[in-house]
Amino acid sequence: MTANKRLLVLPGDGIGPEVMGEVRRVIEWMDRRRHVSFALEEGLVGGAAIDATGHPCPDKTVERAMACDAVLFGSVGGPKWDGLPFEQRPELGILRLRKDLGLFANLRPAIVLDPLVDASSLKKEVVQGLDIMIVRESTGGIYFGEPRGLDTTPAGLRRAFDTESYNENEIARVARVAFELARKRPGKKVTSVEKANVMQSGRFWRQIVGEVHKAEFPDVTLENMYADNCAMQLCMRPKQFDVILASNLFGDLLSDLAAAATGSLGMLPSATLGAPDESGRRNALYEPIHGSAPDIAGKGIANPCAQILSFAMLLRWSFGMEEDAQLLEQAVKKTLAGGLRTADIMQPGAARVGTGVMGEAIVRELDKLAA
Ligand code: NAD
Repeated sequence: MTANKRLLVLPGDGIGPEVMGEVRRVIEWMDRRRHVSFALEEGLVGGAAIDATGHPCPDKTVERAMACDAVLFGSVGGPKWDGLPFEQRPELGILRLRKDLGLFANLRPAIVLDPLVDASSLKKEVVQGLDIMIVRESTGGIYFGEPRGLDTTPAGLRRAFDTESYNENEIARVARVAFELARKRPGKKVTSVEKANVMQSGRFWRQIVGEVHKAEFPDVTLENMYADNCAMQLCMRPKQFDVILASNLFGDLLSDLAAAATGSLGMLPSATLGAPDESGRRNALYEPIHGSAPDIAGKGIANPCAQILSFAMLLRWSFGMEEDAQLLEQAVKKTLAGGLRTADIMQPGAARVGTGVMGEAIVRELDKLAA
């Protein structure tokens, strides 16, 4: 069988390589049992790339990412590189990949799986059955806007500044991703989030999203909400949401908040997508939303589920392998229902296991489900 699905694997730093090892186990299983073969390449990013090449995202990594069908990313950063100047930090590795691959739409599901409903810090009845998708713009806004910098005011005070800036195309294309997603979900609702009350860019965001909605997606419900209210609502009544659409900055904050509502960073995957070309192919990168977790790196106790579920998103979004994606998601769910827990999601009465045992158990569930 020829491996026609080319994947670039970028484990990165900290727990990245540890949890990526468990995805390899899943890929081997797919190869063996589902006859789906992936051509895997491994590349350097983050601190590992700085140590080897002096740069957090070498050109070679970007070139290979562009040549592959999809990128599976681990996590970057750690205390070893914390002292480096801003322009050399490991975290710039992911920012460069997003920018160079044109990955403008970051999809972050926040789902509460039944076996983990008690892991949330919110009340069970508030989060049980939660299933929302946050679509965050990821190549524009204040993280990239110019001018940015440090200077001194005429009065001699030191000053720092960043710029929130969006053009209409940047807003419209990410809005389309959110509306298209909502159209396929039972709720069929997009909540677009900004600060139209105090920011010019927020008023503009609301206007452009409204135009796209009216012209192309009248069958989807659109609701506008201020970002601060959205944060509050996510804590009080998160189930009112279906798809949340937000700028880079607000999406960053709100998706972490939604993550907290689900219980653990170790469970949550994400996808970042570019625009489809004429053949329907798009650049795409998949990664857990957690970082490199330096506090537990090397101990073999990291939760591999977010990385494995990121691979399930890859199967769905880059290869249209919905059945295999669901199989993998089911296997994770069943493993948890069977009572296994890594330390981050440990509950009374459950069995505490490490990264490798969790990965093995998920593969065993895959075996049972596919039998
Ligand atoms: P973090 O997500 O790495 O860790 C936060 C807490 O969650 C830690 O206590 C950690 O042990 C725990 N945790 C995270 N993932 C886990 C998992 N899979 N299993 C069990 N526990 C898990 O965030 P942080 O501590 O703020 O950042 C650490 C480093 O990661 C920093 O250098 C930061 O810049 C970087 N970071 C990278 C990315 C990325 O690569 N995309 C994202 C966020 C943070």
